[in-house]
Amino acid sequence: MSKIIFVIGPPGAGKGTQAKLLVEKTGFYHFITSREGKNYISSHMDDPETARQKELYDKGILFEPEWLIGVQKKRAEEILKENVSGIVFDGSPRTLYEAENLTKFLSDTVGKDNISAVVIEVSADEMKKRAGERLVCSKNENHVVSTRLDAEKKIGDPCKKCDGVLQKRDLDTEIEERIKQYQERTEPGIEYLKKNYTVFTVNGERLVEDVQADILRVLNL
Ligand SMILES: [Zn+2]
Repeated sequence: MSKIIFVIGPPGAGKGTQAKLLVEKTGFYHFITSREGKNYISSHMDDPETARQKELYDKGILFEPEWLIGVQKKRAEEILKENVSGIVFDGSPRTLYEAENLTKFLSDTVGKDNISAVVIEVSADEMKKRAGERLVCSKNENHVVSTRLDAEKKIGDPCKKCDGVLQKRDLDTEIEERIKQYQERTEPGIEYLKKNYTVFTVNGERLVEDVQADILRVLNL
């Protein structure tokens, strides 16, 4: 039976990096919800509800939770049918609603025992420090590099993924808001997971490879 691993953590915890390493190690499918949402939109524009989500997205408004859950379920179902050995969810669930609904579907499909979550913990001070080390592409906010992980990178360098340039953002207010969102929206989802599934907590304030070694150890991989 396929395994499901949720990699969750506050802003700056390095969950994207850890999820990617975990995928390289296990060969599991790397499920990035925002990317799945965008791909789904581009291939389902004939569906009026999906077309409406694109309008929201283009205005910078988040996808509606009910629609997004539907996409996650459909995509997870398709992926699991391909007999993958597992799925790593990168940064999901983000809310209690998502935790309840996505895990319900997954546990009906692969069984509760095949679902686990890893929460990467970092302190608020560390989150703020790391936010200051982020350089973001001028053309796509998903193209991010950290000078903590890649000391060569500096402001004005070309983006590796497109023809934008790397910029520093004034993140002080933004990071406060993202931390608040995490505490108010994501933490209740983690509490729900802890009550119903196996949840491991790892200390994210260490070198990338040490955090990864810990994740592999707790997951028995
Ligand atoms: Zn870019």
